[in-house]
Amino acid sequence: MAALITLEQINKSFLTEEIETRALKDITLSIEQGEYLSFSGPSGCGKSTLLSLLGLLDVPTSGRYTLNQIDVSDLSRNERSRIRSTRIGFVFQAFNLISELSVEENVMLPLTYQPASVQSGMKDKVRDVLDKVDMLHRCNHFPSQLSGGQQQRVAVARALVNDPAMILADEPTGNLDSKNAEAVMALLDQLHGDGSTICMVTHDPASAQRASRQVELFDGQIVADSQRSGRAQIQPGSEQPSLAGEGVS
Ligand code: ADP
Ligand code: MG
Repeated sequence: MAALITLEQINKSFLTEEIETRALKDITLSIEQGEYLSFSGPSGCGKSTLLSLLGLLDVPTSGRYTLNQIDVSDLSRNERSRIRSTRIGFVFQAFNLISELSVEENVMLPLTYQPASVQSGMKDKVRDVLDKVDMLHRCNHFPSQLSGGQQQRVAVARALVNDPAMILADEPTGNLDSKNAEAVMALLDQLHGDGSTICMVTHDPASAQRASRQVELFDGQIVADSQRSGRAQIQPGSEQPSLAGEGVS
């Protein structure tokens, strides 16, 4: 089966005041459906940039990105936004709920971009996902009436409501105390168990270990990529460990 996502030789540079920052350098990565990846590494190493590219919020400077066997590296803004709103669920560190909308209305929002055929079953779908994150009893509340952990669970429901091909989470527990963080991590575990594909940025080693595959970035490059079983893969373009002194020469 073809991978859900392939990134080939992806580069991303930002140009500000004549200074070029190479945020991502020759990233090659393939992600299968149902995988749960964590991306970690020091601040500024390119984690958020990589997640933005995966989420079609931005385009690479060079390289090829294939999603569901479609080359999405070079789509127009409109085409990217259509795929993004129907196929990708986002969870952000700051929850990003709309304060004027109720829980139910916030979760419904992504569905308003869907065709009318999908919208007809909208209410049921919203209730389903709110139930899944155990927030159905708060559907008429407003974000300000909820704890951080509850708000993030609502944000996860919003990410799930259009049955996305993948969920992208950037530091989803970064603004939470440890108890609420654990509830959100447990929710991601559960979604992974149910078959969701998840890419999560985190700088917390314990959270990274919850994922089934850990990818480490340093200075815009992938420097480690390992499954929880301990199998390690070396990416093309990254530093190869020296074999000097091993075996016969
Ligand atoms: P991380 O999420 O790992 O902390 P980022 O992906 O946010 O890192 O940033 C990677 C590098 O790219 C940093 O040097 C950052 O300053 C730079 N960068 C990110 N976004 C922009 C932007 N929009 N304009 C200019 N530089 C940027
Ligand atoms: Mg970041």
